[in-house]
Amino acid sequence: MMLTTTSKGYDEARLGFQRRDPHRPAVIFPVTNADEVQEAVRYAIDHDLRIAVQASGHGLTEGIDGGVLIATSGFNGVTVDAEKKTAWIEAGATWRDVLAATAPYGLAPLSGSFPGVGAISYTLGGGLGLMARRYGYAADHVRRIEVVTTDGVRRNAEEDPDLFWALRGGGGNFGVVTGIEVDLFDVPTIFGGSLYFDLAEYPDVPEAWREWTRSVPEEVTSAIAILPVPDLPQVPAPIRGKYIGQVQLAILGDRGEELIAPLRALGTPVMDTVGVIPYVDSGQIFAEPERPDAYSSRNVLLDDLDALKTLPGPDAERMHVIGIRHLGGALARRPEIPNAVGHREAAYSLTVLTPGEGEAAREVLEPWREATIGRALNFSFEKLSAEEIADAYDDYDRLVELRRRYDPDRRLHANHQL
Ligand SMILES: Cc1cc2nc3c(=O)[nH]c(=O)nc-3n(C[C@H](O)[C@H](O)[C@H](O)COP(=O)(O)OP(=O)(O)OC[C@H]3O[C@@H](n4cnc5c(N)ncnc54)[C@H](O)[C@@H]3O)c2cc1C
Repeated sequence: MMLTTTSKGYDEARLGFQRRDPHRPAVIFPVTNADEVQEAVRYAIDHDLRIAVQASGHGLTEGIDGGVLIATSGFNGVTVDAEKKTAWIEAGATWRDVLAATAPYGLAPLSGSFPGVGAISYTLGGGLGLMARRYGYAADHVRRIEVVTTDGVRRNAEEDPDLFWALRGGGGNFGVVTGIEVDLFDVPTIFGGSLYFDLAEYPDVPEAWREWTRSVPEEVTSAIAILPVPDLPQVPAPIRGKYIGQVQLAILGDRGEELIAPLRALGTPVMDTVGVIPYVDSGQIFAEPERPDAYSSRNVLLDDLDALKTLPGPDAERMHVIGIRHLGGALARRPEIPNAVGHREAAYSLTVLTPGEGEAAREVLEPWREATIGRALNFSFEKLSAEEIADAYDDYDRLVELRRRYDPDRRLHANHQL
């Protein structure tokens, strides 16, 4: 089935989570299997059209004008092999779909903070998850990838070392992925949640969190969000209208309480959701908003957090959500089969997200210039220049060369174009 601009269901099929600059394709293929993906790619080749792919629409930077949109949300099966501890994930599956399929076996994927995000694009972009410091990037644990390249051919990427290297970290620049096989881990439960501190009362919480991250083991993956919480009825009452430092914690093993004792000693949080939870409920840890919205963001990867004091406070002209994630541990180690993920030496990732229309605030990142060693494209929700995209990689030239090989006509409209 193919939808055109006048078809019933056209808007529903083109609109995803990110509403800042939605796709405006000439035709949409709402696919449900790999044959239909191949058919859509061949249609684009025959009509000399560009191709965009959308699963959930969380990672959209710039909508396509005209061309073909392959909408994968209905192609979202997940098959678990409990013995091998792997899952086969189809193109449009979100982490929520994957979590639901793996939980009955007490197994967990390397999913991220928000279960509504598409598992494939997250993984193609590296994939920084809730257990990242213990197990590394999601892209480090991919066993197989099936992809339709822009010549209309279906390939098993793991049989082609260049393609397999590029897809794991290089994003959607090399073909339309129809499915991936990933490793699963024995994690039925996790010690996780957030400590929400009122920063008016405890302004030193971000500094204290940074100090704490210096000594924690790899079992601890954590982050902090610094944000003025809107005074709205849908927001939990204790944090409503406050300037909050939300310390987000995901800890493996049974030493959770002991490990976070220094954080608890900082003061009394206005809200505390930390405890042992089934991994399937791990979306509670960051508790990010579910409602589709318009937003922009810029990200930097840092080797220190010395400029913390320069972050804009609650009185900033525009609202910013600052998200800082602690890296290191397994993220710093290269996987057995190399991949394109860059800057493994980074110590922290800092994202400035600006809700609404318009660009994210570049000036917020100015004081971080010296500490910046690169950027993570998964957290960059804005169109970037070629130089800015190059900053994400250790071997950008090889990626560009491979894009030329696999997509010589630049048919793919990826969210970050190599
Ligand atoms: C609230 C929120 C939380 C997040 N948390 C994390 C996190 O914890 N860790 C992390 O690493 N990232 C995180 N991200 C970033 C997220 O991984 C990226 O935005 C990712 O691109 C989203 O994928 P999607 O399928 O949901 O988005 P989509 O907008 O549907 O896809 C994004 C792009 O991926 C490409 N693409 C999608 N499907 C395919 C395919 N089958 N084949 C080829 N290319 C394809 C296309 O270029 C497309 O434009 C988060 C994002 C948000 C908004």
